[in-house]
Amino acid sequence: CGIVGYIGENDSKEILLKGLERLEYRGYDSAGIAVRNGKGITVFKEKGRIADLRAVVEDEVVGTSGIGHTRWATHGKPNRVNAHPHQNENDRFTLVHNGVIENYHHIQRDYLAGMQMESDTDTEVIVQLIGKFVAEGMTTREAFSKTLTLLKGSYAIALLDAEEEQTIFVAKNKSPLLVGLGDGFNVVASDAMAMLQITDQFVELMDKEIVIVRKDSVDILTLDGEKVSRQPFKAEIDM
Ligand code: GLU
Repeated sequence: CGIVGYIGENDSKEILLKGLERLEYRGYDSAGIAVRNGKGITVFKEKGRIADLRAVVEDEVVGTSGIGHTRWATHGKPNRVNAHPHQNENDRFTLVHNGVIENYHHIQRDYLAGMQMESDTDTEVIVQLIGKFVAEGMTTREAFSKTLTLLKGSYAIALLDAEEEQTIFVAKNKSPLLVGLGDGFNVVASDAMAMLQITDQFVELMDKEIVIVRKDSVDILTLDGEKVSRQPFKAEIDM
């Protein structure tokens, strides 16, 4: 299972798919990507191999930012509906997640009672909760922070907001996730290997930080919104 993300000036599809192929060694049962352009966010996902995902990705859909996921099912059987990315009720938010949300039943009961869930995953509560908090008046960053404080378990998350085109929101807890720095683009990956083709500069993320990734900036914040500064490191791996 793994996560990739790209935000920049080029079409993201091939970068995401190649990145996912380089994470195949981690094991998975399904895969998906979401890409975004001025017209919105498009999700492609499929049970099976990256090759099966490639077969459903439409060339005409071009997006200069996107996120991708390989799933190793923990909650909900491996099928297309349970594959990530997942979207909230009105499709404004699109999210990929690795890990396990141990208290997803409680979140569903306490915050999302009556809401029809689309999938059987533990993941879907995260994106539904963010959507709910935003509908109640929070900014996306506030809603993301608030949601993270409610989650128990492990996660690496990348989130797209259809109304905030220039950003990928990222966070982790007990699951690996890195941000990679490029010239005119930035990337996200569970493992530097996934993006070594386009950059070798990476920034380590700590548990319970929020990272705002844009094509020419990476801002790391505490959940309270305080800025964190951290130097990148050079990834040296033989390919
Ligand atoms: N628990 C999530 C699911 O079953 C994510 C699994 C993963 O890490 O790939 O969908």
